[in-house]
Amino acid sequence: MRTEAEAGVRTFRDCDLGIFKALKGSLTGIERKGKYLMVRFSNKLGFVGHLGMTGKFLKRAPGEEVKWSRARFILDSGEVIHFQDMRMFGRIDAVPVTELEGRPGVAKLGLDPLADGLSVDRLQAAFHGSNQEIKVALMNQERIAGLGNIHAAEALFRAKIHPERSAATLSPPEWKALVKAIEATIAFALDVEGDGEEIEYVEEGAPNPFLIYGRAGTPCRKCKTIVKSFTQAGRTTHFCPTCQPKERKTDGDQMRKRPRARRYRG
Ligand SMILES: [Zn+2]
Repeated sequence: MRTEAEAGVRTFRDCDLGIFKALKGSLTGIERKGKYLMVRFSNKLGFVGHLGMTGKFLKRAPGEEVKWSRARFILDSGEVIHFQDMRMFGRIDAVPVTELEGRPGVAKLGLDPLADGLSVDRLQAAFHGSNQEIKVALMNQERIAGLGNIHAAEALFRAKIHPERSAATLSPPEWKALVKAIEATIAFALDVEGDGEEIEYVEEGAPNPFLIYGRAGTPCRKCKTIVKSFTQAGRTTHFCPTCQPKERKTDGDQMRKRPRARRYRG
């Protein structure tokens, strides 16, 4: 295998192109951490890859033209794996394999729901009493890896939690609901998005597979209330004011019987 790069493009913004061009040998490992791929080759070089909004790996026959091909891995058979990325929010960062774990985006990644498994205890530990708004906290890769803007909104809708609540205010039933909701959201995302192609936005007029994301101004699929949106940490948040009230509901008998202090114990 050998590699080719389209020089001077944003795809290689943190990358030593010399190292990218020196990648060769056979593939010895691919590991996913959150939204990042760590790829290792037998000559002890590798790269961290991120697909961004429009990036994908495509295997094509020798000589076949591929639009927006930013990086190419030319196999011994002559076939070519292209890193195609129209908008170049994706990234290729080639380094010696010993440095992969320390690269931006990979280092300090938080709980990985797929690799580590998810539970109320683990999620609470990841948030450790944070006062950050829960949707912003869910998107913080240092707390929990792999949830983007859409996934965070979907999980909170499923869990019936308002995006501006903080982790510190969640009740035990809400923590349980949130764990289930994150698992369901990831399962849904893997199903809809397939391998490695994350949807980060929905084109206007395109079919929208999501429960809440992109539905502002239309009736909630559960209760028919008009879905609202607002900007939170620079990203658009969609939510249902009825399904996800800002004040925590305390109308359940179960809740009232619990002594208040118990709700917050880890
Ligand atoms: Zn609703």
